[in-house]
Amino acid sequence: MLVGDDLRSHQGTGRVILPFVIKIDSTRARRRLLAKGRNGCHTVAMKMLRFLCVSCLLLGSAGSLPAQEWISLFDGKSLEGWKASDNPATFKVESGAIVAQGPRAHLFYVGPANNARFKNFEFSAEINAGPGANSGIYFHTAFQPTNWPGAGFEVQVNNSATLHGNYLEMKKTGSLYGIRNVYKQLIPDNTWFTMTISVRGKQVQVRVNDLLVVDYQEPEEAPAKALSQGTFALQGHDPESRVSFRNLRVRTLPDTAVPAAKVVVDNTYREILRLGGANFPLVDFHTHLKGGLTLEEVLRHTLDTGMGHGVAVNCGLNFSITNDAGIADFLKAMPPSQVFVGMQAEGREWVKLFSREAIARFDYVFTDAMTITDTQGKRSRLWIKEEVDVPDKQAFMEKLVSTIEQIIANEPIDIYVNPTFLPDVIAAEYDSLWTEPRKQRVIAAAARNSVAIEISSRYRLPKADFIKAAKKAGVKFTLGTNNGGREILPNDHGLQMIRDCNLAWQDMWMPRPDGQKKAQAK
Ligand SMILES: [Zn+2]
Repeated sequence: MLVGDDLRSHQGTGRVILPFVIKIDSTRARRRLLAKGRNGCHTVAMKMLRFLCVSCLLLGSAGSLPAQEWISLFDGKSLEGWKASDNPATFKVESGAIVAQGPRAHLFYVGPANNARFKNFEFSAEINAGPGANSGIYFHTAFQPTNWPGAGFEVQVNNSATLHGNYLEMKKTGSLYGIRNVYKQLIPDNTWFTMTISVRGKQVQVRVNDLLVVDYQEPEEAPAKALSQGTFALQGHDPESRVSFRNLRVRTLPDTAVPAAKVVVDNTYREILRLGGANFPLVDFHTHLKGGLTLEEVLRHTLDTGMGHGVAVNCGLNFSITNDAGIADFLKAMPPSQVFVGMQAEGREWVKLFSREAIARFDYVFTDAMTITDTQGKRSRLWIKEEVDVPDKQAFMEKLVSTIEQIIANEPIDIYVNPTFLPDVIAAEYDSLWTEPRKQRVIAAAARNSVAIEISSRYRLPKADFIKAAKKAGVKFTLGTNNGGREILPNDHGLQMIRDCNLAWQDMWMPRPDGQKKAQAK
């Protein structure tokens, strides 16, 4: 038995069993024990742990036992203990791994381990997926002879899926399919990685390698499908998808449910769930690490709400990053996670400050038209009252629209953000100043240059008529909140526009793979 390993499973479990189990439950206590080990009291700590584990085993017959030892579900040689649906030939054993490739089939575990019935558990597998492969691991499911499994939940495998007919799968590896989606590719093709799935009461956690990518709490007002119990299944999705699985193992966790965290189920919660289930990529690409907001907090927000994020750093004259070295330092300091990392290009001179290679290291690049050269030839930041001078409103608008057209045509950007923003002094005349022809010029430029337009919840722009016209012209959209301080803002305007303008996943822009980025093409 791996003592350290075993301890990890006790986190958040076994609370009702014995007082001394509670003691080793807490992470702090575990750290303390491990620290002691480092200080030379290792054997004392180990003895104590062994005693505790023996105590746990003695309680085994009580029914609600703490974590069991890992049980292997696959012998590495045969499919003994497994049963395939639809097209059994889709599954083969090759060099110690179960390989799924062929027409749709699902391979269900039906072997002796825990009578193939798992409620609370920790499951782990090593997975290797080929280019474009789609697959997944089901839990709480049950054998069915044909079709996609109706029971249980799927944890998605999809590193680099491309268009499949008319469908582009947005839910990447690690997604709790349609419920808590990961939108960023974390694992390269043809690379072994570990996926860990755990269920503790109403909590589902998924880890990709050691990265926690899903931490879902099922609310009391449960969605159509609720957590229950069942077996595991591996997915063979289609003949083009080739995926290998090895070292499949599980250990049961006590049935005792962990008290559910308080989950607020409001309209936003339901909307995010509905859209996530409809393959809609929910990513707020316009989040800033401002006012002390940390990447960890942004990630926590994603885990709690299902809203993905991209954090953008301001790059340009008089900003914190002004050259390639600054970009390199910034990216070096960003730990890998499911949060996208973007560049907010500032001022029109930014294109000369950075190399294309450095720009292309970001997942995406955006800019706005809030820093322009005005009709008098002066550099003007439109959100700063003192810098804004509008002697002639029509001339100002003409200058603004042609600036937007030039930005979209000439700068290597993916997204035009804070779109159609007007300075305070003329903001009240937005509807009359943004004439139909002016709107059409911006839309045409975006469509012609494949630049997405942000739906900004900070400025509540653009409005529905603009979005509908842009959608018709084939323009893609992103969501953005553009927080000015530490608080992450809600995507209220974005979610409302998705509804009002009937936007679907096909209307949304997503970062391009390396080699196909804007900065690498122009
Ligand atoms: Zn911004």
